[in-house]
Amino acid sequence: MNAPVYLDHAATTPVDPRVAAYMAEVLARGLGNPAANHAAGRAALALIEEARADVAALVGADPRNIVFTSGATEANNLAIEGTLRAARQRLPRAAHQVVTLSTEHKSVLEPVRLAARRGVLTTILQPDHQGRLAPEALAATLTADTRLVTLLHVNNETGVAQDLAALSEVCAARKVPLHVDACQSAGKLPLDVAGLAMLSFTAHKLGGPQGIGALYVAPDHRGYLAPMLVGGGQERGMRAGTLATHQIAGFGMACRLARAALPEMARRMVALRERLWRGLADLPGVQLNGHPLRHAPHILNVGFSGVEGESLFRGLPGLALSTGSACNSASAEPSYVLRALGRDTQQAQASLRFSLGATTTEAEVEAAIAQVRAQYLRLRQMSPARPPPEFAIGACGLRYLGEAGAERLGAWVRLAAHVEGGFVKAASAQVYGCPETVAACRLVCSRLVDQPVADLAVGSPEQWRTIVEAPVEKLGRMLIIEDALGALRPE
Ligand code: PLP
Repeated sequence: MNAPVYLDHAATTPVDPRVAAYMAEVLARGLGNPAANHAAGRAALALIEEARADVAALVGADPRNIVFTSGATEANNLAIEGTLRAARQRLPRAAHQVVTLSTEHKSVLEPVRLAARRGVLTTILQPDHQGRLAPEALAATLTADTRLVTLLHVNNETGVAQDLAALSEVCAARKVPLHVDACQSAGKLPLDVAGLAMLSFTAHKLGGPQGIGALYVAPDHRGYLAPMLVGGGQERGMRAGTLATHQIAGFGMACRLARAALPEMARRMVALRERLWRGLADLPGVQLNGHPLRHAPHILNVGFSGVEGESLFRGLPGLALSTGSACNSASAEPSYVLRALGRDTQQAQASLRFSLGATTTEAEVEAAIAQVRAQYLRLRQMSPARPPPEFAIGACGLRYLGEAGAERLGAWVRLAAHVEGGFVKAASAQVYGCPETVAACRLVCSRLVDQPVADLAVGSPEQWRTIVEAPVEKLGRMLIIEDALGALRPE
């Protein structure tokens, strides 16, 4: 079987082969510790400083203001925790406030949540239904105690881009430092750190290796940031630890390549994204999750109504993409980002995030359109909105119907049986549910045929669960099938 079409570049991009080759070559050079004062150390340091210049140039920064980290998670933690820690040291008795948006990445929301537990006042703003934060809403929350505003530039799930210029103006007017997580925009949109206190980004979203990222720290914010990792004093005291020379070299090259390719790459991705959206937008019940205009070139998030999210996602084995739910248990958590945009649980779970990258082709986009259309329309055929099946019922035949569950419970089943002379002659099911629920309904329908309607012997929910290999948490969905069987009555 062919490898699935990779449309998950917002999660991680494949390493650019030129970057991989360069990193392998750097590793083979036998370089020393960049802190060491001998030739092998100095050679490593020279490579690092060359890379630092390329990393800085991508975001319009002075290389001296770049701090290498293990990725954006660490950069975000350092920005938030480091700023709050420095504020506590400076003003131990003052109140401290941090402001963010409810749709931020977890690597921002978690440090903010931990700060709240330590008594920091946290203000978590809500975006509008298109994912944007109004500058006035931000302005209204800032106080003399606000130590930091932390915001995503481009949301990783929806691709919605905030108006950074307007938001940073609000912060500047109140002299509040603004930290921006630019993981999804670095290399995709032009970036400039002017006016920002800090900016995080990471190599593995732009063709570089995993495990290396950077925090830009403005010179006038440096004194307001305490390090999280202390030790050998590397990175001008901001982040101790031996620098990962080959990772940094790869990051540098990825940034250089991304910067050179940026305008052309962005144009290409915009065209591919448009093509993808045009290929899906005419389907019934489809909606764009996000903003129609203010978005990154590479992310498209689409909601599908009337179908169950896990069945939609698992019916697309030819595509590697992300969905709006955790998708592996009976209680798949709907995406908090999509919920914040006003989507209900069903809509959030039945949403797909397509994210494109340098390697994405038109043929791959067409393949994605064809596969998603086919699977979505197939599931809609079984949806609650469809009338029950017609059977060729003779003079003495009857149609029995039994229905149970609800979309909001994650499973809905309607069984239909054609009964003649007291025996089931044919049976069929309409299902809104996960693939195992659909499989169990098929099993039950096949077992219903030839059964006496007065005493249906089709097995137990536990038995169906075992046969269709559903995890034990899905027993509840099997019970819904049993309820539908119990509800079977002549029309
Ligand atoms: N912030 C955003 C917006 C992201 O998309 C990611 C990626 O998962 C991160 C932070 C975390 O980056 P890293 O994997 O480098 O820690």
